[in-house]
Amino acid sequence: MIIGTPRHKATLAKRYDTIVIGSGMSGLATAACLSKAGQKVLVLEQHYTAGGFTHTYTRKGYEWDVGLHYIGEVHRPNSTIRRIFDYISDSGLQWAQMDEVYDRIYLGDESFDLVTGVERFRAKMLSYFPQEQQALDRYLQLIRDVNASSSMFFLHKALPNSLAKILRLPLCRRYLKFAEQTTADVLLTLTKNAKFIAVLTGQWGDYGLPPKSSSFAMHAMVVKHYLNGASYPVGGSASIARTIEPVIQKSGGQIVTRAAVEEIIVEHNKAVGVRLQGGQEIRAKTIISSVGVENTLGRLLDQATIEKHGLKRQLANIEPSMAHVGVYIGLQASDKELGLATSNLWLYPDEHHDANLAAMKQPGHKFPVIFISFPSSKDPEWDAKFPGKSTIEIVAPAPYEWFKQWQGSRWQKRGKDYTKFKQELQDTLLESLYRIHPQLIGRIHFAELSTPLSTDHFCRYKTGEIYGINHTPRRFQQKWLRPATPITNLYLTGQDIVTCGVGGALISGVLTTIRVLGLWRSRVLLTMLKPKRSR
Ligand SMILES: Cc1cc2nc3c(=O)[nH]c(=O)nc-3n(C[C@H](O)[C@H](O)[C@H](O)COP(=O)(O)OP(=O)(O)OC[C@H]3O[C@@H](n4cnc5c(N)ncnc54)[C@H](O)[C@@H]3O)c2cc1C
Repeated sequence: MIIGTPRHKATLAKRYDTIVIGSGMSGLATAACLSKAGQKVLVLEQHYTAGGFTHTYTRKGYEWDVGLHYIGEVHRPNSTIRRIFDYISDSGLQWAQMDEVYDRIYLGDESFDLVTGVERFRAKMLSYFPQEQQALDRYLQLIRDVNASSSMFFLHKALPNSLAKILRLPLCRRYLKFAEQTTADVLLTLTKNAKFIAVLTGQWGDYGLPPKSSSFAMHAMVVKHYLNGASYPVGGSASIARTIEPVIQKSGGQIVTRAAVEEIIVEHNKAVGVRLQGGQEIRAKTIISSVGVENTLGRLLDQATIEKHGLKRQLANIEPSMAHVGVYIGLQASDKELGLATSNLWLYPDEHHDANLAAMKQPGHKFPVIFISFPSSKDPEWDAKFPGKSTIEIVAPAPYEWFKQWQGSRWQKRGKDYTKFKQELQDTLLESLYRIHPQLIGRIHFAELSTPLSTDHFCRYKTGEIYGINHTPRRFQQKWLRPATPITNLYLTGQDIVTCGVGGALISGVLTTIRVLGLWRSRVLLTMLKPKRSR
């Protein structure tokens, strides 16, 4: 069978064991793990390129990634994440560690560095907040406690239903105790110092919710993820799909782009295949969806199946995460010439994270956070590929409502008002960049702004949500956010069933594979998930 648009045709094999919908980190990880177990896997991706939020795009001789600025743990050869990446890429994926300061937090004009290594992190924090030693030590202990209990909580998701029911309490109780509290609830038991709390939660943009609404477990996992430093994929984030694809192909599988799934075909409550936009049907024994739970259970199934299992009711318990605007910048000079380092910058107006986000109802109000990343400086291969050039990316929250009036318009044809609005937002964000790096004034050669409509267009998140489902305490109480679904042979994977982040999506792929293959046939994966003792 041949599928795809006339210009991008792909010839399919006669039979596949599994179809994976979506080629983001989770879809690729699931496909590669199943391929390693001997399965022939077909990955169907609606975009023109593979990778989901880890894809890259090029314009005017520059290249940008869209959803990966840094990742923790991968530079430690024995970490779970690194071992899984090595496994699914046959060690093809390489990592470049960033400088000692992975994040710099600005509260107004004051800045605070988050530095690599627990002891150095602790010493740095004490240099800013010498009165907070007791609170800091208790905080670091809590971070360790949450992370020690997290692996059992997530592994529990991969167990067969009957076993999962019996073991839920013993395996999940400890983690849920942390997950069901907000970050503010926990931190306020340690200290009343608002500035100290604002610095400790200065990475809230990594999981999309400020302290009063985020789950403390989510906060703690992100903090721990980066405590030992951060890295960037050598060659940019497109290296992820590039190095994993051959592993899928080795077992006879393939990734097909421009192949949007319109419906999951269900017969007698069993998923048997998919129908693509255009009407073509492809069948396989197992169907795995990585496109988000709202898309999968609310949009890709037929109405009768949705109603039969009360899926709309279930979906009412979750909410989408925030949407964002992104500015993609190209400069005609190298990072060294421009004095740009690898550290990410987080710009906050002041220490009132929750109030600032709540106030951002109208455009024109200050952005509650602006994140600035220097991807070209992080990639050791950049200078050889793009000599004399560099790139910068800016990310900031922006409610979908700001763009709702252009919903349904076509990409790049959304009209003059839209272009004008985008220009205003871009100018505001560039001013923030110039405040930190005035040497860049007059040096920008190319810049363009993406909106939540772009996120929907390229990755199919209906309200432009940046991280799938919001990471509230309530999210972690949803027992149904797991690989198995009420439909036989239909499984979920992706950030929604674990957490957002490339690491979260990666682990979700492993958990879904374990659920599909069963515990015995997943011994290699289970070994990789086994927590290692670390500080
Ligand atoms: C701006 C931004 C910055 C980020 N920065 C970081 C960071 O620095 N570090 C980090 O760890 N994480 C970061 N993240 C988060 C991280 O990128 C995501 O959590 C993770 O990549 C999600 O992977 P996924 O496989 O679950 O989903 P996705 O990557 O969204 O993959 C889903 C795929 O399914 C495809 N699809 C959807 N519908 C269909 C359909 N009907 N048919 C076929 N295909 C379909 C989509 O096109 C997409 O390719 C960032 C995210 C964003 C948006």
